Amino acid sequence: MPVECSAGCGKNAVLKRPKTGDALCKDCFFWAFEIEVHNTITNGRLFRPGSTVAIAASGGKDSTVLAYILKLLNERHQYGLKLVLLSVDEGITGYRDDSLETVKQNCMEYEMPLKILSYEELYGWTMDAIVKEVGRSNNCTFCGVFRRQALERGASLLKVDCVATGHNADDIAETVLMNILRGDIARLQRCVAIVTESEDAIPRCKPLKYAYEKEIVMYAYFKRLTYFSTECVFAPNAYRGHARAFLKDLEKIRPTSIIDIIHSGEQLSVHENVRLPVKGKCSRCGFISSQAVCKPCTLLEGLNKGLPRLGIIKTSRAIRARQDAERARPVPTLDF
Ligand code: SF4
Repeated sequence: MPVECSAGCGKNAVLKRPKTGDALCKDCFFWAFEIEVHNTITNGRLFRPGSTVAIAASGGKDSTVLAYILKLLNERHQYGLKLVLLSVDEGITGYRDDSLETVKQNCMEYEMPLKILSYEELYGWTMDAIVKEVGRSNNCTFCGVFRRQALERGASLLKVDCVATGHNADDIAETVLMNILRGDIARLQRCVAIVTESEDAIPRCKPLKYAYEKEIVMYAYFKRLTYFSTECVFAPNAYRGHARAFLKDLEKIRPTSIIDIIHSGEQLSVHENVRLPVKGKCSRCGFISSQAVCKPCTLLEGLNKGLPRLGIIKTSRAIRARQDAERARPVPTLDF
């Protein structure tokens, strides 16, 4: 028996909103989803009129919905933004090469300029080559560290005022859980911030911060958006996978769990005595870093020296590993 749309429009409902349990027709769902993202943007003061915003585009559902909805809201509410797509090519055969084709398609459909930066051109390594070197256990550490900096480099190349990323409510709730389990106070504070900014760095914002992953999929499905849905060919981050499974179990029992965890993360405040990392500039590449040498440069040094674990193990062990490697290196001899 058909159920009437609970928004009172007189049409039949075609879906049950995962976030609220409301039975809605397609149009009322679109309206509710779009107005919530608009409210997130305006309440969080994410953009200034006249700004250029780079949308971090991977071709996946989140960044595709983000690009589509930012274009729509920008026109509907006259934000006055110039929107561009910024993609990072990690060099993962059978995954990123295919997903970038989707980004290129979106670039034409949404009429937004596109810039693609690759790990190979920035660091001289593709993820395929890194995995050959480091194996499948720490690959996501390299990939995540390089991607964060690659986005920063791309944004400064494009001279944009802000980078909008497709992080959704589920991603943020997962990260809150992971940071609590790891006792990572500095990251806990940053991961719930809707805008992250520091001196000399281009601000990043999350317009989909309160959008449930299931609703993003529904929105993309009913709008018939083109997106890439295959998982990375390299093993997904196991630790995040556990946090995700735990969150999905909680969501089944109590759908508001996702938003509740985000709100809990927002309420936690860091005691003033706690020392948080101070951002400065990397002495080698000049990009933002909380250490004298940034993490991407440290990881790159390890890769280039054939010591890929250099940037992963703790600093004291890394120094010992570096010294051992120096000692083991053959002493150059002169041939007469
Ligand atoms: Fe990179 Fe790991 Fe994500 Fe694959 S799963 S894209 S290797 S971070």
